[in-house]
Amino acid sequence: MPTVAELLEQGIRRLHTAGSETPRLDAEVLLAHILGIDRTGILAHPEAPVGDGLAAQYVKALDRRETGEPVAYVRGVKEFHSLAFATDARALIPRPETELLVDLAVAEVARRLLAAPRPIGIAPLRIVDVGTGGGAVIVTLAVLLDRLGMLGEVDLMATDADAAALDLARENAVGHGMGDRIRFELADLLPGELPGRWDLILANLPYVRTDAIAGLPPAAAFEPRQALDGGSDGLVTIGRLLDLLPDSLDREGIALIEIGADQADAMDVAVADRLRGWSCAIEPDLAGLPRVARVMPP
Ligand code: GLN
Repeated sequence: MPTVAELLEQGIRRLHTAGSETPRLDAEVLLAHILGIDRTGILAHPEAPVGDGLAAQYVKALDRRETGEPVAYVRGVKEFHSLAFATDARALIPRPETELLVDLAVAEVARRLLAAPRPIGIAPLRIVDVGTGGGAVIVTLAVLLDRLGMLGEVDLMATDADAAALDLARENAVGHGMGDRIRFELADLLPGELPGRWDLILANLPYVRTDAIAGLPPAAAFEPRQALDGGSDGLVTIGRLLDLLPDSLDREGIALIEIGADQADAMDVAVADRLRGWSCAIEPDLAGLPRVARVMPP
């Protein structure tokens, strides 16, 4: 029987040759996943023997990773905001920088709910996540609001134009006990029938310039192109959303829209051009890069 150390060595060698930028990390994560333990367990017990069946599964995982397929798809899971999300080729893999979008949403909900005593029977805050993909943003928001005791005060909805992505989002909602707390609707951007106006619109839409797609890391080639490709300037889909805001956002509402690190100025211009008198403030992510635009009516 091979040992953990031998399998790791084999994996690192194969993935290095295949061009992975992180061969050791990939091999550790894949082996730990297959053994059902965390990475520290792998590092603590290099001499442990691994049964032939598990070793064979590991080799299969390496075969997939060698083709460039992202580790998150091979494992079928990705951590986001310390929660585990099912991931596969139906949707974009959740990115750590998108955690900021959720944090800003939680802060906004808390600000609204704590600002003034809310009379009994007042309508819940209406929140929609546009282009939810695998659902990481809306499901994480639901889990965090639940922990704060605020889930009863919000009405959560998520849309996507892709039915397969929505299925994954529903699976993730169910996986986190939120299957009956979030409504999912197949729609291009906002849902057809508006339940009044939205208090909070969240969006991590495709924003990569078409000509920059080829320069993304190889793993991105396995992700749905429509989840990344934001058209010639990267802001085509976001621009379509901006055009819908005057009719769909409450007068006191806010749209939080994730953008690329180099799109702060272009986003300011897009808002100024399309939404006379509206404001656009850009929030930086943990790396200090522009990441989320906060768009508000006059
Ligand atoms: N941040 C992602 C990337 O560059 C893009 C995600 C998106 O287009 N919404 O890979």
